[in-house]
Amino acid sequence: MKVLIINCGSSSLKYQVIDSDTEFVLAKGLCERIGIDGVLTYEKTGSEKIKYEAAMPAHKEAVSLVLKQLMDPKDGVIKSIDEINAVGHRMVHGGEKFACSTLLTQEVLDTVASVNDLAPLHNPPTLVGVAACKELMPTTPMVGVFDTAFHQTMPAEAYIYGLPYEYYEKYAVRRYGFHGTSHKFVSQRTAEILGKKPEDINVIVCHLGNGSSISAVKGGKCVDTSMGLTPLEGLIMGTRSGDIDPTCIQFLAQKENLTLDETMNVINKKSGVLGISGVSSDFRDLGDAAAEGNERAQIALDAFAYRVVKFIGAYTVAMGGVDAIVFTAGIGENDISTRARIAKRLGCLGAEFDEAANNFRGKEGFISTPDSKVKLLVVPTNEELAICRDTVEIVTGLVEDAVGK
Ligand code: AMP
Repeated sequence: MKVLIINCGSSSLKYQVIDSDTEFVLAKGLCERIGIDGVLTYEKTGSEKIKYEAAMPAHKEAVSLVLKQLMDPKDGVIKSIDEINAVGHRMVHGGEKFACSTLLTQEVLDTVASVNDLAPLHNPPTLVGVAACKELMPTTPMVGVFDTAFHQTMPAEAYIYGLPYEYYEKYAVRRYGFHGTSHKFVSQRTAEILGKKPEDINVIVCHLGNGSSISAVKGGKCVDTSMGLTPLEGLIMGTRSGDIDPTCIQFLAQKENLTLDETMNVINKKSGVLGISGVSSDFRDLGDAAAEGNERAQIALDAFAYRVVKFIGAYTVAMGGVDAIVFTAGIGENDISTRARIAKRLGCLGAEFDEAANNFRGKEGFISTPDSKVKLLVVPTNEELAICRDTVEIVTGLVEDAVGK
């Protein structure tokens, strides 16, 4: 089966075509500056990357250009649109309505739209992307894979805020968590690597990238995660503050004469390791600056690691013990020093860090000693493949249902 994976932002659209039988990526790319002018990047696996400008007044034109490129007689990977058997869409916020991936019927799309309030920046563009695909591929099944779905197993004690309960009832204000597709993929792959069933182990997944989150996966089910109503809560991130005393917002707005929106912009876009260091949100720049003696870059790196360590301690207790602590995403997979800064402090939990084994990037591997009671691992995430697998599962189920009837 050939599956098109779509990840829509407000002015961008990432895509991949995966052959689900071999799980081989046939082609991938990105549309940028949608609604402004339009730039398309395309890479057929094994060939040179192509980049060109093309008018993209809206997402429909972007999808149309992607399909045209995929069918290009010289560089394409399909001959006709019919060769795309299904489309898997990355959806950001499913609220409490979606605990698993689902076929995107009109009823489902209306339900997604009903929680747009919870993710006003992210959900509307994904719905626009789905509509564009449906218009151009009206008979192709579309599946939605939600970033929040894997965390829907969290118990009330983990998801409820210490706010008047009526706000949860009236507005669904609670903790949801994000990066769920990654946390699910990585925790399941960890079980495979350890030769165990997901039901039999407790895993802490540290998804450390530009946006970072950490989750406690007990017996294959998420019981807690660090992001909340929005992806702002929890760890210190590239530009997001993570947990702060909410009073900081009122205090800063008054002192700096900012509106609420302006203050939230600071918390979302000018804070995190960028805000602390004044150098960059990129850990490569921070590492270089710290090595040259930049004190604030060092504080940013230390504060980032300290917050991760605190969550690992909390989640170990929350699950009544942990079998494996896993690092993934841009920083988790590639930043050897940040991994070391975190892993060195986990000895008290029975996780013995192996400094010599830690010297690698971008691949699977153990970074704990062979005898370590709690295993420390690096497992690269692959959200597109996870979306592809869910899409195939749902579409195959549909075909089986139809045959059964
Ligand atoms: P992601 O959001 O998962 O794509 O992660 C992006 C972040 O990963 C970047 O902002 C960098 O901070 C970090 N990163 C990527 N490659 C490296 C590397 N080789 N060393 C350190 N950090 C890296």
